[in-house]
Amino acid sequence: MFEHLKKVDAAIAAALYNELEKQKSTINLIASENYASLAVLEAQGSLLTNKYAEGYPRQRYYGGCEFIDVAEDLAIERAKKLFQAEHANVQPHSGAQANMAAYYALMNHGDSIMAMSLANGGHLTHGSPVNFSGRFYNFVNYGVNRDTELLDYDELEKLAVEQRPGLIVAGASAYPRTLDFKRLRKMADLVGAKLMVDMAHLAGLIAAGLHPSPVPYADVVCSTTHKTLRGPRGGFILCRKYYGEAIDSAVFPGLQGGPLMHVIAAKAVCFAEALAPGFVTYQQAVLDNAGVLAGELQKKGLRLVAGGTDTHLLLADLSPLGITGKAAQEMLEKAGIIANKNAIPFDTRPPKVTSGIRLGTPAVTTRGMKGEDMKKLADLIVKVLSSPGDENTVRRVRDEVEDMCRRFPIPGFEGD
Ligand SMILES: *Cc1c(COP(=O)(O)O)cnc(C)c1O
Repeated sequence: MFEHLKKVDAAIAAALYNELEKQKSTINLIASENYASLAVLEAQGSLLTNKYAEGYPRQRYYGGCEFIDVAEDLAIERAKKLFQAEHANVQPHSGAQANMAAYYALMNHGDSIMAMSLANGGHLTHGSPVNFSGRFYNFVNYGVNRDTELLDYDELEKLAVEQRPGLIVAGASAYPRTLDFKRLRKMADLVGAKLMVDMAHLAGLIAAGLHPSPVPYADVVCSTTHKTLRGPRGGFILCRKYYGEAIDSAVFPGLQGGPLMHVIAAKAVCFAEALAPGFVTYQQAVLDNAGVLAGELQKKGLRLVAGGTDTHLLLADLSPLGITGKAAQEMLEKAGIIANKNAIPFDTRPPKVTSGIRLGTPAVTTRGMKGEDMKKLADLIVKVLSSPGDENTVRRVRDEVEDMCRRFPIPGFEGD
């Protein structure tokens, strides 16, 4: 592997090789990660990276784009078919760029936008003061109900009536329950706001029909391709035909230059994979696994935010164990289990410490793990978290993790 790279750049070849070994020998519970197929990796690692194609199919600012157009047309057609959308733009370089383009298309500098706070599970691009969104727009943040840790749509509606935002944004990075897009549409209509849904985390579940789709309700839907959708690292936007031109011109020439055509080709492959029958089975297994993992952790005494999960992710509150999110992340990593610390709603600890940990099942499910393996994982996680400083436990768990990794190789990397 990496035979050309090794000759040209031994240092980068070594970093890639070490990362490969790390991915193979650790269990990935990061809710926003997955393992893309070899077909996706082939397209993404292809010579399409050589081509400039500013513009859109048949309206390019460069010559020689006939096969580039084939790739982008297929990506657009498949995205529309997969999500039953009227219009798709597959050029955003990432989820953040997709959101930026949506704001740029729908709003003016300084306009008021309502979105979920980062501290309650939203995303940086939903108005955080350290992000462009928080600096260029007037964000009003909403959160979850303090008692239920769920979105209370009546409370949200009160806020919307009071604040009269021009845009309501729904979607989150750390909210384990189903989102009610129909209710959000009603709220947006009541206050005369547009509705944007950021389905970055949920896209795979939505594509499989296992979470309600925002497409019939939202004016604009933004997403990533690399989370539950299991494609290349990238973004895309779906919208009503009416907003198509505004979205397209916000992405290019508004915010981006030449599209990453190798990534767009890989997005087309990812959409084709999501349209194939096995994809629903995979997403159902992601949900089943998250349910088992959540149930087992609860049985073993962990408190889950919002009482559990309807999705691919869960958020565990570690305060009953007397450890922080940061400590838990580090302890688990030593044992070969990779996850991320995460603020819980109304967290009293700072964002770099936190009281919670976020766990997701998309990646382990791609490796073929099932319910019994989730039980095993819950057991290993609780063992590590309930014995801080115990090197023997860490070593024993690390051995079990490596055994599981050998039994469940990353698809496409079985032999390496
Ligand atoms: C991951 C995520 C994004 C950003 O995606 P990037 O590709 O990392 O830019 C945006 N919104 C939500 C809700 C996300 O979870």
